[in-house]
Amino acid sequence: MKRENLHSCKRIVIKVGTSSITHPTGKINLERMERLVRELSDLHNSGRELILVSSGAVGAGAGKLGRTPSSLPEKQALAAVGQGLLMQMYEKFFSEYSKSAAQILLTRDCFADPSRYLNFRNTVFALLDYGVVPIVNENDTVAVDELKFGDNDRLSAMVACNAEADLLVILSDIDGLYDADPRRNPDARLIPEVATITEAMEANSTTKGSSISSGGMATKLAAARIAMSNGIPMVIASSDERSAVRRIAGGEPLGTFFVPSREGYAARRQWLAVGSTPRGVLRVDPGAECALLHQGKSLLPSGIRSVEGDFHPGDVVSVRSESDLEIARGISNYAAGDVRRILGRHSGDIAAVLGVCDYEEVVHRNNLALV
Ligand code: GLU
Repeated sequence: MKRENLHSCKRIVIKVGTSSITHPTGKINLERMERLVRELSDLHNSGRELILVSSGAVGAGAGKLGRTPSSLPEKQALAAVGQGLLMQMYEKFFSEYSKSAAQILLTRDCFADPSRYLNFRNTVFALLDYGVVPIVNENDTVAVDELKFGDNDRLSAMVACNAEADLLVILSDIDGLYDADPRRNPDARLIPEVATITEAMEANSTTKGSSISSGGMATKLAAARIAMSNGIPMVIASSDERSAVRRIAGGEPLGTFFVPSREGYAARRQWLAVGSTPRGVLRVDPGAECALLHQGKSLLPSGIRSVEGDFHPGDVVSVRSESDLEIARGISNYAAGDVRRILGRHSGDIAAVLGVCDYEEVVHRNNLALV
C-alpha cells in the first residue's frame, strides 16, 4: 500500500499523547485541544468516521491537584480526577462544532473476553452509525497490572483492529521514527516509511514516557507491529504539525508511515472466516442464505432453521445452508439456548419470547465474514 492511497480511508483512529494536549504543568492545553477538535470535526464533516484515543487523564488530574504521582494508587486517583476533566473539555469543544462525543474506558481483558469484545464492537459501530466520535482511554482506576495495556499506543492499535479502522494516526511530541535517538544524536534522520520493523529500529527506540505518560518510541513500535500485521496502515507524526491528521489522510508524506502487511490487509475479517474455531452451527433457509450471500444483510432469527452446539454471546458460529455448505462465520449476539427459542420468529417477537430484545440480529453484518 502507498501513502497516496490513504485518501480513500474512511474510518480513522487517532491517538493523542498526554504531552500533546496538556502543558508541562499538567493543565489542559486548551489551544492545542481546541485545534485538534476543530480539525477532527472538519474531517468528520468531510465524511470520515473517527475514533479518538486520548491520554491525559493522569496529567490533567495532576495539573488540577498540583501533585506529581509517585505510586500506582496515586496515578489511579489522579486519572479518576482527570478523566472527567478531559471529557468535559472534549465535550465542550466538540459541541461547538455540533459534534457528539462518547466516552469509552477499556481494560485489556475487554479484548480477550468474547462477550466484552463483542459489546465493544457493537457499541462502537452503533456510535459511528449515529455520527458520534468515540473517545477511548484505558480505565486506569481499575486496571490492575494483569488487566493493563499500560500505554495508549498499544491500546489504540487494538482499538483500530477491533473497530476495523482503515488508518491509525499516532500524534506525539516527536515527529516520527528516527534512525537514532534525535534527543541525543543531532545527526539522527527521520525514517519516512517502514515496511518491516528491524531489530536496529527496536534498539534505537528505547525512549520511555514520564511520570504522567506511559508511552515512548518502544510502545509506538509495538503498536505498529499490531497494526501492520492486521493490515492497518499507521502513521506517527508530530502533534505540533498543523492539520496533521487531515494531511496524512490526504496522502501527504508527514511523519513515519508504517506499511501494512498485504496478508493482513487482505485478511481483515478473514480471521473470522478461516482462523476462528466455531462453537456451534446455525443452519439457515434459502432466503437467509441469499440475503447473506448477495444482499449484504445480517442474519435474523427468522432465517434460522436449526441450531447445533452450545455457544455463548460473543462466540464464533458457523452459518450453513440446508445442504450443509458453510456460507459464513460470524459472532453470535445470542447464546445457543436463546437462538433455539427465537429461531424462525420475526425479530419483533424476540422481546416476547426472551423477555428482552437487545439485538434484532442473531449475527450482525459487521461481525460476519462470508466463507
Ligand atoms: N491512560 C493514561 C492517561 O490517560 C495514559 C497512558 C499513556 O500515556 O499511554 O493518563
